[in-house]
Amino acid sequence: MCDEEIVRILVDEASDRIADLVNLGVPFDTLGGEIDLTLEAAHSVPRILHAGGDATGEHIEVTLSERIHSAKIKVLENHLATDIIKDGAVVKGLKVLDCEKGIKEEFGCRFLILATGGSGQLFSFTTNPEVATGDGIALAFKAGADVMDMEFFQFHPTTLYLPGVTPFLISEAVRGEGGILRNAEGHRFMPEYVPEAELAPRDVVARSILYEMEKTGQDKVFLDVTHLLPRITTARFPQIYRFCLENGIDITREWIPVAPAAHYMIGGVRVNSCGETSVPGLFAAGESACTGAHGANRLASNSLLEVLVFGKRIIEKTSRMGDKETVEPPQSSCTHRRLIPGKPRHDAQMPNLSQLQKLLWDKAGIIRSRKGLTEAAAILAAWQESLPLLEDRQTYELANLVLGGSLMVEAALIREESRGAHFRSDFPCSLPEWRKHIVLTAG
Ligand SMILES: Cc1cc2nc3c(=O)[nH]c(=O)nc-3n(C[C@H](O)[C@H](O)[C@H](O)COP(=O)(O)OP(=O)(O)OC[C@H]3O[C@@H](n4cnc5c(N)ncnc54)[C@H](O)[C@@H]3O)c2cc1C
Repeated sequence: MCDEEIVRILVDEASDRIADLVNLGVPFDTLGGEIDLTLEAAHSVPRILHAGGDATGEHIEVTLSERIHSAKIKVLENHLATDIIKDGAVVKGLKVLDCEKGIKEEFGCRFLILATGGSGQLFSFTTNPEVATGDGIALAFKAGADVMDMEFFQFHPTTLYLPGVTPFLISEAVRGEGGILRNAEGHRFMPEYVPEAELAPRDVVARSILYEMEKTGQDKVFLDVTHLLPRITTARFPQIYRFCLENGIDITREWIPVAPAAHYMIGGVRVNSCGETSVPGLFAAGESACTGAHGANRLASNSLLEVLVFGKRIIEKTSRMGDKETVEPPQSSCTHRRLIPGKPRHDAQMPNLSQLQKLLWDKAGIIRSRKGLTEAAAILAAWQESLPLLEDRQTYELANLVLGGSLMVEAALIREESRGAHFRSDFPCSLPEWRKHIVLTAG
């Protein structure tokens, strides 16, 4: 399902973009003077750079933020993009809510680049931050842009599972470095499900854990790194070590209780190799976009690379684009459906965020079926009709999640097969006729 042209671009331009990060000052970890590389699930060779052990994202973000401040680029903090303004078919600006002052503002633009991140808040258990409410996908869809591959949502197999503790990602690299999954009786179960055992693709490990939890009647399994040298574990995974210790678990001596959680939205706003959406003037990058690089099942650690490679291509494209240039819509074999987004009402009962998350976790999560998806679709359709008046961050984000959830459920219902991150218990095999994308457009 990967778009071959997009994957070639990703691979060909990767090293230059990583060199950009090094030149900008991101302190990637080194070993003997060379960049140190690690292995993650379903990878054949170690190829993953890391910084500060397991604090890679933090180091990239802090380094780039410092550059933005020193370049005096204007940044509006606590401002929420709420609507895209169009003149005819073309993007002309953005409506924004100043969340601190409660004031709505409008900004004009020639190009608009959406980079609003993921949608993990669709689910009760997620590794994603609170801001991952799929705003960009909802905004673009309402503005008429195509969204694609919404049925493919990746679940991470191992997040720390402790009562009262927010799910915390226990990186794939922990299994890459030799971590073993055990059930409550201490039995290593993964080799019974797949030969690749702990290093099988994420969807396979997540489903195997779920089956094992059902079999043993437990709500978790355990990740064991006690056989690794403690000084290696603490040096390689300082954040994980510290976070677990703060919550009462010394991972050098005790097993880590883990369970799967929602992690990465593979689908998103459909873009071509320059980040252009189907709406002229509108671009999308990162997790809010769908380039086709990840196919149906993102390989671990490809997403930061995708952000870098296609983010840069958007800048190059918009820098050389003339006023009259039009967008070439992305090409691929696909099924098109039109959907109608809901309208807010003044008299409505606000659907509850945790109800929405539970509904999607139960009915549209790791294992799906027509029955559950149909029930979810009906409830979401009712909620779409009874959205509250949009006036603050909470209501905007909830409305975006209801729309994003509806798009995901709709696509999951249409795809009557199992492929990559999308697993249907009523259609457990992949079917050749379904080797195509599902594209949804507002009716
Ligand atoms: C715990 C965790 C670990 C991960 N580890 C890896 C890894 O090792 N390697 C890898 O490749 N990927 C990893 N990923 C995935 C990767 O981090 C994300 O896919 C990537 O950061 C997405 O980047 P982005 O720029 O698209 O969005 P983000 O970095 O999420 O940024 C989106 C920004 O948009 C803002 N925003 C959202 N909505 C609005 C709105 N309406 N108006 C204004 N602003 C808005 C948000 O506040 C946020 O600042 C991980 C993800 C998680 C959650």
